Amino acid sequence: MTHPEQQRRAYLQAMGIDVWLPRDAEEPDPHREQASSYSWPELRDCVAGCTRCELSTSRTNTVFGVGNQQADWLIIGEAPGAEEDRRGEPFVGRAGQLLDQMLLAIGQSRANVFIANILKCRPPHNRDPKPEEAAACREYLDRQIELIQPKIILAVGKIAAQNLLGSDDPVGRMRGRAHKLGGVPLVVTYHPAYLLRSPSQKYKSWSDLCLAQRLAAESSA
Ligand code: URA
Repeated sequence: MTHPEQQRRAYLQAMGIDVWLPRDAEEPDPHREQASSYSWPELRDCVAGCTRCELSTSRTNTVFGVGNQQADWLIIGEAPGAEEDRRGEPFVGRAGQLLDQMLLAIGQSRANVFIANILKCRPPHNRDPKPEEAAACREYLDRQIELIQPKIILAVGKIAAQNLLGSDDPVGRMRGRAHKLGGVPLVVTYHPAYLLRSPSQKYKSWSDLCLAQRLAAESSA
């Protein structure tokens, strides 16, 4: 993708117009450009080449997100794991299989929701995202939310919920009620990886999904 400023200079050059730059002017980094006005293809390209944080040096693939770009449901997880990094798709490991089953239980599927993460790159050894990594990646997620305009956001797990809501509360305190993110209803639930370890908590996630379903229906009405 060509940076608009580079394109402008190329046009001016082609017209034979000299472009004067301050001696210390830096070449714009195309991946530092505001993603807030990007189309889907521009955003995808920008994420694919992103070097905003150190995770770009250890990733195999960026994990942009997958699904319906006009989805009613936006599912937001934490960050890619090893399998996601290898395949470039979110939630494809065991936790992802459980997420698929949770979606099926409410009549949704991977194809008709959109699934993304707080981070687009895998943190080494699956450590928690650092605040600066989440901050560097946030603009991409915000643009995805703007483009999708979902009826409901489901934040799965502590990292997603805390980052999206700007809270330090544990999931147990954030789940089970309606939040809002920029006007969009948001429900917090447990991460499927946690539910694999604590299956006795699945009934709580079921009730969160039912709440999300009600809120999505209300925001369609
Ligand atoms: N866990 C997440 O939060 N996201 C993924 O994409 C995979 C596992």
